[in-house]
Amino acid sequence: MAKYIFVTGGVSSSLGKGIIAASVAKLLQARGFSVTIQKLDPYINIDPGTLNPYEHGECYVTEDGAETDLDLGHYERFLNIPTSQANNVTTGRIYQTVINKERAGDFLGKTVQVVPHITNEIKRRVQLLAKTNEYDIIITEIGGTVGDIESLPYIEALRQLRWELGRDNCITVHLTLIPYLSAAGELKTKPTQHSVKELLSSGVQPDILVCRTEHPLDMGIRRKLSLFCNLDPTSVIEARDAESIYDVPILMLKEKLDISIISKLRLVDRHEPQLDKWKSFLGLLKNPMHEINIGLVGKYIELQDAYKSIHEAFVHAGVANECKVNIIPIQSAQLTANNIGTKLDNIHGVLVAPGFGERGIEGKILAVQYARENNIPFFGICLGMQCAVVEYARNMLNLEGASSLEMDEDTPHPVITLMEEQKTVDKKGGTMRLGAYPCQLKAGSKAKEIYRSKEISERHRHRYEFNNNYMQQYEEGGMLASGINPETNLVEIVEIPEHKWFVGVQFHPEYKSTVENPHPLFVGFVGACID
Ligand code: GLN
Repeated sequence: MAKYIFVTGGVSSSLGKGIIAASVAKLLQARGFSVTIQKLDPYINIDPGTLNPYEHGECYVTEDGAETDLDLGHYERFLNIPTSQANNVTTGRIYQTVINKERAGDFLGKTVQVVPHITNEIKRRVQLLAKTNEYDIIITEIGGTVGDIESLPYIEALRQLRWELGRDNCITVHLTLIPYLSAAGELKTKPTQHSVKELLSSGVQPDILVCRTEHPLDMGIRRKLSLFCNLDPTSVIEARDAESIYDVPILMLKEKLDISIISKLRLVDRHEPQLDKWKSFLGLLKNPMHEINIGLVGKYIELQDAYKSIHEAFVHAGVANECKVNIIPIQSAQLTANNIGTKLDNIHGVLVAPGFGERGIEGKILAVQYARENNIPFFGICLGMQCAVVEYARNMLNLEGASSLEMDEDTPHPVITLMEEQKTVDKKGGTMRLGAYPCQLKAGSKAKEIYRSKEISERHRHRYEFNNNYMQQYEEGGMLASGINPETNLVEIVEIPEHKWFVGVQFHPEYKSTVENPHPLFVGFVGACID
């Protein structure tokens, strides 16, 4: 039978519940348990696919094409195993299921209520992951902060599950903030005491308290928290601010969080944590031989989370190259022919980011042109690849006014066009080309050299594509379609063989980069930038 760990948050949002959940999972995985992580999001959207990145950051896409919370990206990067639709559940999805059942007559004669119908559906979704018998441990992160109105049904579902499954099979790890008052020179426990009380008022006693803090928690503070929160002192865990998110599993190991969990869940320990690969990754991360600057050209650059997976893929690829990668955010909407030289000064490589809509598009196209003409390594992802195709048409193939149909419906040369199956789509949610698709790589291409494989599979999230009517002109004009979907003939990769390193991909390689498996395209790109 699977064991369950719930991760809740108190006092403040943005404490890093996702990283704590992923770190706990990593430690248990390193001890030989099979673990998966799930995120419950209390918002009413069915999924984050229709959200602006400014709201909750990047939308992460799984192999099975689910548009999910960015925490799933952390889970995959830490655990090196794929997640799926079942790993991200929103309030919207819960209600949709219950309402569909009501319409189907499943509750005939009954009043449908938050308790028990919504809470039952939450419990069903949590336990669904155990159905395959694949996992020893299921970690469920509850989004939001304890006390939020929208979290209440989740906390009630957790209370019930804990009662039904027993304390040895289901525990709660509560992540909280211990603020430091510099005027008083003290760490303060009161907000945490209140958030534990809040949980208690919903009938949930946390089993472990993980305390986010800027300063060490001394024994006095630990004892105080232990006394006022009904916990033994070994269940009060310090989570100091870390230099890198990848330090957190090791910090939690030092605090013996894994041992505490194993004893509370009465798990039979398998072996000491095997973290050699993780530790050597950290060693390389902290001792780079090289340093480069990558210009990340996008329109959501004010918010790091908007390109989370790209940032992390560069961390992995940096380590693989023993290189510190500095990401220089460049607002595409501010790029002009006059300032591009200054803005991209001191940059060793240019990445044009994914995106939607017209804002900043001409700036992105200028950035492509600058990288192409100056032989600076260029990497275009999704919209970034589409910009590279448009730029090539305008400046190398003499296709005046060439554009993407997304930006200009009346363009004389729609070199990027709407996919056939998208033409009849009128709903926005979950209707893009989503998830993993195969791609065949051309012999002799840079893509093939990078992947060292004939066929690859990568994840997608887009509606537009390369217009194959222009294929011949591109190939004659020096841009090669080096990756093709074997079933649909869609162009997935373009490259310029003459250029030092110029690759555009219609898919999102960043979603598949992990600590253990840095993505070959990012590794290759960083390598070219070092050269
Ligand atoms: N807006 C483009 C499309 O839908 C690119 C999407 C993306 O960059 N993810 O095709």
